[in-house]
Amino acid sequence: MTTVVTRTDLALCDVADPLREFRKLFDLPDDLIYLDGNSLGPVSRHSAERVRRVVQEQWGQDLIKSWNKHGWIDLPQRAGEKIAKLVGAKPNEVIVADSTSVNLFKLLAAALRLRPGRTIILSEDSNFPTDLYIAQGLIDLLGGQHELRLVDGTAILGSIKKQTAVVMLTHVHYKTGRIHEMEQITKKAHEAGALVIWDLAHSAGALPVDLNGCNVDFAVGCGYKYLNGGPGAPAFLYVAERLQNEIKQPLSGWMGHKAPFEFGTDYEPAQGITRNLCGTPPILSLSSLDASLDIALAADMKALREKSMALGDVFIRLIEQECPGFGIECISPPAAQRGSQVSFTHENAYAIMQTLIQRGVVGDFRAPDVMRFGFAPLYIRYADVWDAVATLRNVLETRAWEQPQYRVRASVT
Ligand SMILES: *Cc1c(COP(=O)(O)O)cnc(C)c1O
Repeated sequence: MTTVVTRTDLALCDVADPLREFRKLFDLPDDLIYLDGNSLGPVSRHSAERVRRVVQEQWGQDLIKSWNKHGWIDLPQRAGEKIAKLVGAKPNEVIVADSTSVNLFKLLAAALRLRPGRTIILSEDSNFPTDLYIAQGLIDLLGGQHELRLVDGTAILGSIKKQTAVVMLTHVHYKTGRIHEMEQITKKAHEAGALVIWDLAHSAGALPVDLNGCNVDFAVGCGYKYLNGGPGAPAFLYVAERLQNEIKQPLSGWMGHKAPFEFGTDYEPAQGITRNLCGTPPILSLSSLDASLDIALAADMKALREKSMALGDVFIRLIEQECPGFGIECISPPAAQRGSQVSFTHENAYAIMQTLIQRGVVGDFRAPDVMRFGFAPLYIRYADVWDAVATLRNVLETRAWEQPQYRVRASVT
């Protein structure tokens, strides 16, 4: 028999939480339980202060001199060095640029070029759509010689064949939170002569990642989710040092040139990771990201992962305890195989989530029937988990979600 969990138990966990001080660094509204940091991380004091300074003091006072004077020009590399520490890479293996979608385009194109004659891009059928769309667009651009082969997430290892050029996967599944075996899949791909590209959108800043330890070739990831860079903050990309001077990425813009300010006629790529840049970096949002990365770096990753798993487990357990019989089903795996989010299905998932949001519990909906809740350990408290479930229980018991306003679909869900 399991004992009942009370709100007092959870409030005690908050008192003992080694990460409890981090919440103060974020400006979260008091009446909000924000379980959507996996989609858009909240603003931190670090970011707000840094953007203010960059606007007023740097852009405002020093204008174009700031590219040199305030080091804007190498901010993509410097922010990349910070992210490298979070994903188990060397400092010169990560750079911040563009969006995740664009970075995937660049690296997938570069990877295919390294495997001429091989025609298959292997991925998961339920991968995040932009990753699949990017592969489809690139295949089309390359003349249709390649095939995007999509299989179930459990069938990846068995589907790596000698025609496989690239295995392109998202490490933590955006809907279920399931973690792929990065080391094992990478090893199998290499044994078959293929390359790997891992998308770390739901991994970086949420759980330990060891790109070097897993011998990963390429990776991309997102700056505005667990890294809290702000809406549309630039993304990052990783290229293993051993491949950096071998690859050619197709968006050959001047920032990836070896001497952009010589204004030569012909493109010559920079050495190292820099050749993966394309155009001018977005300094405001990049500065915001660079500042918020200091928070992620100050947190102990082991404590972060432990709290993330514990929050998810408590949430699942409380839903079983408080909301039985309402047709809510957990689709996320156990903690050890799960990232920092937990998802449930319900036939009225959309309306239920809208009602929760209206009551200050913010998760999100993923079509067709998934309610997704992210537990970012830097600012979510154990007691928040109790309060979120209490709200959910009330919404289900009163059937408040049946009101027509909760069925209207906005363009972003
Ligand atoms: C969020 C997310 C992206 C986002 O890509 P953008 O180019 O920033 O819109 C890409 N891939 C995955 C797996 C994601 O979860």
